[in-house]
Amino acid sequence: MRFDIMTLFPEMMDTIFSQSIIGRARSSGYIEINCYNIRDYSTDKHRKVDDTPYGGGRGMLMAPEPIYNCYAAITESLGYKPYTVYLSPKGRLFDQNTAAQLKEKGHVILLCGHYEGVDERIIEEIVDEEISIGNYVLTGGELPAAVVVDCVSRLVDKVLPADECFTDESIYSGLLEYPQYTRPPIFHGKAVPEVLSSGNHARIAKWRHEQAVRLTLDKRPDLICNNMGTEVDIKPERHEKT
Ligand code: SAM
Repeated sequence: MRFDIMTLFPEMMDTIFSQSIIGRARSSGYIEINCYNIRDYSTDKHRKVDDTPYGGGRGMLMAPEPIYNCYAAITESLGYKPYTVYLSPKGRLFDQNTAAQLKEKGHVILLCGHYEGVDERIIEEIVDEEISIGNYVLTGGELPAAVVVDCVSRLVDKVLPADECFTDESIYSGLLEYPQYTRPPIFHGKAVPEVLSSGNHARIAKWRHEQAVRLTLDKRPDLICNNMGTEVDIKPERHEKT
């Protein structure tokens, strides 16, 4: 999976993408992430990339030319035009399905806006889809791009140790994930549920499924879908104090 990111702040992205699972996936060659500084493609002698909006109003807009020059340099070197996404609060809301669809593209270009956004003509010219990461407005598209890259990358073969790492997870499975525990066995008087140390895998699986359903009904009933699987008897449960 390859991502080409057009941004005014490539250093910001380099920091995020050089750490942890994504950093290791890059080093191992499972994903490729290239960041391009749009400012490098400005023809202005001061490397200017923004201008005032026609019609007046506050703020500055990213001008179309440097973005187009950056896009053209990427696509000309490739010889094809990858699926191009503009991160924007006006876009389709990003979710796990969108991540799976982007992963199927194999290669995407991400355009990060800044200031008041980008000139509309650049969207018409190069963008296949606008994607929003939520109903709020951020100062730039860098964090949204990082969210998209992280989420899509987790679906790429070998980035996580096994498919179960994400198929059992919240949202992906249609349910929220069951509660999890690690050592110590008792923390501040709260014991780890006995079933998890029983060694009985069938009991553990049943308990986890019940917990997942309980949590989902409680916190995100909207996620419960018709083909949820086994029906479960849900009784209230509390951590036993010892
Ligand atoms: N004036 C724009 C509007 O009202 O739609 C908002 C511009 S915002 C301050 C600057 C940039 O941040 C946008 O061009 C976009 O790239 C990014 N951005 C802000 N919020 C976002 C969101 N919820 N999802 C994706 N990108 C976002």
